[in-house]
Amino acid sequence: MYLTIHAAAGAAIGQFISNPLLAFILGFVSHFILDIIPHGDEGIKHWKWFKTDLGRLAAATLIDFFVLCAVAMYWLIYSPVNVFPGMIYGMAGAVLPDTLWGLHELTGTPLLNWYSKSHSSLHHILKKPLAVQHGFLIQIPLLLAFTWLIINL
Ligand SMILES: [Zn+2]
Repeated sequence: MYLTIHAAAGAAIGQFISNPLLAFILGFVSHFILDIIPHGDEGIKHWKWFKTDLGRLAAATLIDFFVLCAVAMYWLIYSPVNVFPGMIYGMAGAVLPDTLWGLHELTGTPLLNWYSKSHSSLHHILKKPLAVQHGFLIQIPLLLAFTWLIINL
């Protein structure tokens, strides 16, 4: 899933869990649960605007990051200050798995080979690759549901 959706889950967790370390851990775990749901990120490989996989990954990550920053500001504006630590640590934990995966993609470090394989295998548990636009039909409702939770608690 896009970083924005993972961060939304982490921020929602942070609304319930005030302990930052626990919010971080639960955010981290939530990432792997959400990645099991078919979500269409594989379709990015077929973008024709970029010639390389790295270019496609960089463009998707950049767009995702800007959307994440915009919605995270919205979540924080509509949340009480006392839940900020849980939200921020929850978001950090929730996006860390893709950050590690991206680090492996960029550097090819053998230190993260096992991790990258494990992370990627989660995307294939349900064996249901989707097109990007079909993935949006899953990811956008999740984003709205998490946002609703975040701003209504
Ligand atoms: Zn992931």
